[in-house]
Amino acid sequence: MKIRILGCSGGACNDLRTTALLVDGDTLVDCGTGVGDLTLEEMAAVRHVFLTHSHLDHVLFLPLLSDAALASRNGPLTVHALQDTLSALSAHVFNGVLWPDYTRLPSPDQPYIRFAPVSLGQPVPLEGFRITPLPALHTVPAVGYLISNECAGFAFSGDTTYCEAFWDTLNGVENLRYVMVETTMRDADHAVAERSRHTTPRLLAQGMARLQRPARLLVTHIEPDKVEQVRAEVRAALGNTPVHFLTRGEVFEL
Ligand SMILES: [Zn+2]
Ligand SMILES: [Zn+2]
Repeated sequence: MKIRILGCSGGACNDLRTTALLVDGDTLVDCGTGVGDLTLEEMAAVRHVFLTHSHLDHVLFLPLLSDAALASRNGPLTVHALQDTLSALSAHVFNGVLWPDYTRLPSPDQPYIRFAPVSLGQPVPLEGFRITPLPALHTVPAVGYLISNECAGFAFSGDTTYCEAFWDTLNGVENLRYVMVETTMRDADHAVAERSRHTTPRLLAQGMARLQRPARLLVTHIEPDKVEQVRAEVRAALGNTPVHFLTRGEVFEL
């Protein structure tokens, strides 16, 4: 299983892209601006999209992705997400105003997009791996995802503040190899982080202290103008715990 990081920034400018992970070429986890770097052929090969939540930086490219390869995609694009997230997409994106309702076009029985609600802890089996929704705490209904095969697991927090249930669930994953966690803001911005329900370096360290698995920590979703400060705070907060700060284009093999 190959996981390619298409976007891992808290914002989009210059060479920064918002959240998107490509798994084995046919599955996306989140659909931020990183998806815009795919070729048309790569877009056509995507059959599944898993969304962590409805915020724009994670769903922005879904309308364009669905449109880009309409003729060449073999069958519908299946969008997996919490029912609340799917309802938000229906109401605010695929509503016939902002974008056509591809869940009913070109015909309701053979649409371009198919919505598939997910539930916490219920794995969705795919070819060669499975994706399981993980608990998260954000300002809108949100999940993280565990992407796993027989050998190893790769957990992604999505957007969340410190969520005890997320870390406790990971403690039950025997072959956990990577934990990708958002750390959006500096500790100095903890009041804003609390309101917007994001993770700060102190909260990340709290989570890592709860984790009893020897997984490799990957940090993502840092605000573009605070990257150096957040990195320094994360290193200080974690002490001897190794950490890797994600950059766009990295590939992880499991
Ligand atoms: Zn968000
Ligand atoms: Zn976000």
